[in-house]
Amino acid sequence: MIAAGAPGAALPPMDHAGRRDRLRARLEAAGCSVLVVTAPSDVTYLSGFTGSNGTLLVDVDPAADLLVTDARYRERCGTLDVPRVETSRRVEAVVAGLGARPVGVDADHMTLAQAARLTAARPDGPLVHTSGLVAPLRAVKDDAELARLRRAGAITVDAFVAVADTALRPGLRERDVADVFARALQERGADGLAFPTIVASGPNGAAPHHEPSDRPLADGDLVTVDGGAHVDGYRADMTRTFAVGGPRHLDPRLAEVHAVVEAANAAGRAAAAAGVAVADVDRAARTVVVDAGHGDAFVHPTGHGIGLDVHEAPLVTDPSAASLAVGTTFTVEPGIYLPGVGGVRIEDSLVARTGGSTTLTDLPRGPAVR
Ligand code: ZN
Ligand code: ZN
Repeated sequence: MIAAGAPGAALPPMDHAGRRDRLRARLEAAGCSVLVVTAPSDVTYLSGFTGSNGTLLVDVDPAADLLVTDARYRERCGTLDVPRVETSRRVEAVVAGLGARPVGVDADHMTLAQAARLTAARPDGPLVHTSGLVAPLRAVKDDAELARLRRAGAITVDAFVAVADTALRPGLRERDVADVFARALQERGADGLAFPTIVASGPNGAAPHHEPSDRPLADGDLVTVDGGAHVDGYRADMTRTFAVGGPRHLDPRLAEVHAVVEAANAAGRAAAAAGVAVADVDRAARTVVVDAGHGDAFVHPTGHGIGLDVHEAPLVTDPSAASLAVGTTFTVEPGIYLPGVGGVRIEDSLVARTGGSTTLTDLPRGPAVR
């Protein structure tokens, strides 16, 4: 028997229609009676469609919701819970048929060329520029999404254990570590990498988004591994910074930096709960780094939302007007980067709850390799 939540167990079905209803409830206030959704991951979120060419029209009339794609995807569309699918006409032709109704477009994602084509197709109908209609809905995950994110987190943790057990050895290259991580994810049932894995050793650790190179690991190196699984489109994001050869080989200055980042990660996680402003989460983590004298070396926000995209709303930063809600998934990932020396980042993916948060990527955060 396969335990619930284990790789291979059935994942709960998605309620795309319910998500469209929540968006529909926001259309009137945004000044439109139909919204043209163009961002691929928004289309996936609202319809389940995952092809490369898909535009979704969400209408005040639920029965009129329509996915516009092309004939390559006709078969795939048979399983979608969208009332209507159009595979022979282009979006412009469909929108032209809407007459004088106010049509909303997503100004955060629609290209100027797309907007020009829609305007030309419908010279007498207003094109309403909207912003931020879908992102706040996506920030709060439903149970079906959380099931996927939990599984992605669990597979990621297991892959980190595999890396720590087998790949953090002197002589192996950063590239080798990334390969071991990718294989471990695949063996544990991931659908793929959430994003290209970062492996940054020694001085390379000073670059937050270093790409794995041929540099061989050596005793005394810190090596930052930042990666995650994706499961049915949902992504985990996790970073640990390990000491090759164990903490006893570590330069005391790097050991101190590691301890500061560990404390900042803990402070950020402890501050996070439903109802808390993301700015307060950022401040909780950042204050630890600033107080240790490394404020200038923490060069990015404390975290970001995570889900269908590896970076989505809310950005965990200060200033920001956003707050966490029950079910918001996000990361806490403080880092210190010292050019020419190295760096440390420790990152977890979390779910906000009443009174606290749950970590999806729980694994010891110290420098020891297991
Ligand atoms: Zn991240
Ligand atoms: Zn990351």
